[in-house]
Amino acid sequence: MPDIRISVVGAGVIGLTCAVRLAEAGYPVDVLARDLPLETTSAVAGGLWTPYLAEPAQAVAGWARTTFAELARLSTVPGTGVRMQRGHFLGPARPDWAAALADVAPMHATVDPAPGHRSGWTAQLPLVDMTAYLPWLVERLQAAGGSLTRLPLVALPSRGLVVNCTGVAARALAADPAVRPVRGQVAWLTDPGLSEWFVTTGGEQTTYVLPHPGRVVVGGTAQDGDFNPVPDDADAEHILARARALVPKLADAQVISHRVGLRPARPEVRLETELRPEVTVVHCYGHGGSGVTLSWGCADDVLAEVEAVKSGSYQRVTREI
Ligand SMILES: Cc1cc2nc3c(=O)[nH]c(=O)nc-3n(C[C@H](O)[C@H](O)[C@H](O)COP(=O)(O)OP(=O)(O)OC[C@H]3O[C@@H](n4cnc5c(N)ncnc54)[C@H](O)[C@@H]3O)c2cc1C
Repeated sequence: MPDIRISVVGAGVIGLTCAVRLAEAGYPVDVLARDLPLETTSAVAGGLWTPYLAEPAQAVAGWARTTFAELARLSTVPGTGVRMQRGHFLGPARPDWAAALADVAPMHATVDPAPGHRSGWTAQLPLVDMTAYLPWLVERLQAAGGSLTRLPLVALPSRGLVVNCTGVAARALAADPAVRPVRGQVAWLTDPGLSEWFVTTGGEQTTYVLPHPGRVVVGGTAQDGDFNPVPDDADAEHILARARALVPKLADAQVISHRVGLRPARPEVRLETELRPEVTVVHCYGHGGSGVTLSWGCADDVLAEVEAVKSGSYQRVTREI
């Protein structure tokens, strides 16, 4: 039975998934977070399994493949908020990750999938309702003996074993200027009865329409280096116009709210262990626009890092990147 107490800092999808994996492996786990799960960037995510704005490609494909399998399994478990849902990438070219992940996410070409789009690619992918999924992860963590506490920290804990899942805040907490925000704004609309998702590819700005129970998430923006957490009126107007042009059924849908999240972008996801004299930190941040998509794969690697630290055999167990 593992006997190291672990502090996971961060209660977004990355922190909670790592915490669940560690707690279910038998470690005592305390999650500490400034923002509770439904207040995080993770709660703003559209929830579609799709690699976006994350590197390096080979490791991302591995983490995404593992996560696909786990989310597909969870789609059969009531109450998780995870569904397998058909939808369309709009544009002549397949997404750049499609070939590497064709084994789990095969696609077929379609004609006239949406107004203004002569061609596209249809796929059946995990679609996660984050407002249900994050609370479900918390319950799963607590069932495994873990805890969640609101605690804004000015620095990472200085003793013991710490898993750093602080997203864009790692810029300060891990003194890592390579992490930067890529601001994303979305609107939540009432659901006019959509059954498929739509994502544009290849253009200057990605537009997406993602149906969830009781609401549709439409987006978006990708504003590099922008820390503004407040919804912007001009962005909102532009998002609504693009989404309604893509899916005319949204014309009469009512706006429920506008939301902003800061994607933690980094040249490469940081998943590695830092050994300091009094504290060992396993870093897991920098997932860009793919935190949901990579979550279970990364959590497995975090568990492997912790096991290596515990056994005293730590050198570098993360895959070569
Ligand atoms: C508009 C939008 C749409 C997206 N859509 C998708 C999608 O469809 N699919 C997908 O895979 N990804 C999507 N993403 C990306 C995804 O949301 C992120 O990759 C993911 O949320 C990152 O998760 P995280 O747990 O690392 O960070 P976060 O969710 O930001 O969580 C960070 C945690 O660290 C805590 N923390 C920070 N500082 C401190 C401190 N000082 N003390 C204590 N705690 C602290 C925070 O309070 C929070 O709990 C989207 C993002 C946006 C913005």
